[in-house]
Amino acid sequence: MSHCAMSTINSCLVSQLITPTSAHSRVALRPVASARLNNSTPTPPSLIRNEPVFAAPAPIIHPLLREDMGKDSYEEAIAALQKLLSEKGELGPVAAAKIGEITAELQTADGSATLNSESVEKLKNGFIHFKREKYEKQPGLYTELARGQSPTYMVFACSDSRVCPSHVLNLHPGEAFMVRNIANMVPAYDKTKYSGVGAAIEYAVLHLKVKEIVVIGHSACGGIKGLMSFPFEGPSSTDFIEDWVKICLPAKAKVLADHADKPFGDQCAQCEKEAVNVSLGNLLSYPFVREGLVNKTLALKGGYYDFVKGSFELWGLEFGLSPSLSVKDVATILHWKLM
Ligand SMILES: [Zn+2]
Repeated sequence: MSHCAMSTINSCLVSQLITPTSAHSRVALRPVASARLNNSTPTPPSLIRNEPVFAAPAPIIHPLLREDMGKDSYEEAIAALQKLLSEKGELGPVAAAKIGEITAELQTADGSATLNSESVEKLKNGFIHFKREKYEKQPGLYTELARGQSPTYMVFACSDSRVCPSHVLNLHPGEAFMVRNIANMVPAYDKTKYSGVGAAIEYAVLHLKVKEIVVIGHSACGGIKGLMSFPFEGPSSTDFIEDWVKICLPAKAKVLADHADKPFGDQCAQCEKEAVNVSLGNLLSYPFVREGLVNKTLALKGGYYDFVKGSFELWGLEFGLSPSLSVKDVATILHWKLM
């Protein structure tokens, strides 16, 4: 399958699910939606499931295949996946049937595709709710946002499903340009290794001209637990995670030095905040961030959301903008905590 074919399928799926302006999707979505909405009895999701992230005993995919796939092109990766499926005797026919089913659904041209899994229904109903209750009730906002964005904040938050800043801080569309990754880390300026993060910061600061960059850590962070747990000696046991969380190794070192006597859980909690400060320090390695700080068009804030206690802390750091720009020169200039 070519990239082009895949992108066609993707856009087909997306347009069936969410394209608000497509007459085709309006016709297809509405009747299904009302039927589903009337029958649904939503159960409130459990928000706190504090299970360890690194408890998985073995990689999900066979390591040999995983190594192969790392070097593969997209087409080769698909071929490798087919090989894996053919090797898994009892799984193969089931998986192949499922793939066939999904493909048939996606290829239904008249919009009546039976996207019938519960998880897909949830996305569909979620968008219908948003469209009715928010999009259509705030035409002013969404007309303005259609013209462009001018967010006040750039927010770094963890990918953790429990910490969405839009929910926790009641940020509305257009208010925050967001990067979410494992343990809300900001790497130091590196054009090759971390260009994804660098591009986001460059765009937010130079083009959107955000006024605040806020890095938000959180309680029971699996990424920070990993940072505190991984030995970082010898070969990695993960493809990406260890190398990524290494960004905040200075935070781990500080916690181990200052809180050596504390239990592991307390050390992790301390590291969740120290890692935010390391990220704030790393932001100084971006020339356009430094320029914004010097010109006072940009400010940096650290935040911490504790979803066990239901509290949020915010602090600002005054960087001594000396030529060395040492992170050690920082002092807390603002600190509030809401319980
Ligand atoms: Zn996290």
